Amino acid sequence: MCGPEVMASVRQQVRQGRAVDRRRFIGGAGAIAAAGALGPLRGLTQGATPIATPLAGGRTISFESVVNLSHSLTPESPVWPNRPPFQVEAATTVAVEGFYANMLTYHEHVGTHIDAPAHFVDGGDPVDAIAPERLVAPLVVLDVTAQAEADEDYAVSVDDILAWESEYGPLPDGAFVAFTSGWDARFSDAEAFVNLDAEGVQHYPGFAPDAAVFLIEQRSIVGIGTDTLSQDPGNSTDFGTHVAILGAGLYGIEGAANLGEVPASGATVIVGAPNHAGGSGGPARLLALV
Ligand SMILES: [Zn+2]
Repeated sequence: MCGPEVMASVRQQVRQGRAVDRRRFIGGAGAIAAAGALGPLRGLTQGATPIATPLAGGRTISFESVVNLSHSLTPESPVWPNRPPFQVEAATTVAVEGFYANMLTYHEHVGTHIDAPAHFVDGGDPVDAIAPERLVAPLVVLDVTAQAEADEDYAVSVDDILAWESEYGPLPDGAFVAFTSGWDARFSDAEAFVNLDAEGVQHYPGFAPDAAVFLIEQRSIVGIGTDTLSQDPGNSTDFGTHVAILGAGLYGIEGAANLGEVPASGATVIVGAPNHAGGSGGPARLLALV
């Protein structure tokens, strides 16, 4: 587990704004920026979102199938305790007005969704400021299904990352690192997904804060993903993984689906993040190109 001194140091850096220099953490894109290749693109912005930025490492993508990594969002979808459900109200119908549309009301953090740095960091990037090339990334899937079956509070560890590397090689630069714990099978049963105990404590797997710090400091990633309600294990009291990941200017995906259906290595993820100005995150359509 993460030593208290590590988290204290991360918090200190977040407060001082030092951990928000994400260039340090996105090796491929950082190298391109250092070489000046981003220069001509500066100023090409539409609102907060850059229109075009180069793909880290200049890689080529080929694929044979597309896998849906998002749950359908419904009023029954799990929410954080005491948060309002996702709401849908018909605005118009084909039968009456000739066209169908709804009004939606929801908390940004519902269903399969993205956490932008601004979710935990004052002055951190909102969701519409996340550079497009960071939303298309090599997909790394850590399979912790067996560990989660034995321990519903399982904290995905540095050892899990090293075990993946011993099988598949070094984490690719600019990777999106997700785990599959099998928890997505519970999504249609909100009570089982949130899994509160008698004391109101949630129980489900998440990333251990020291695994997040390892990915930030020792590897080059764009973000992390979980198939549970949070980046942190459900019983976390300090949200150390949120603090580390969002404090480093990276993003998190929570409530992903079907990560057990894609290869552990070699796929590409497309994070269809929402684009509302200043947002802390929001429901996202995740796709894997396999
Ligand atoms: Zn969230």
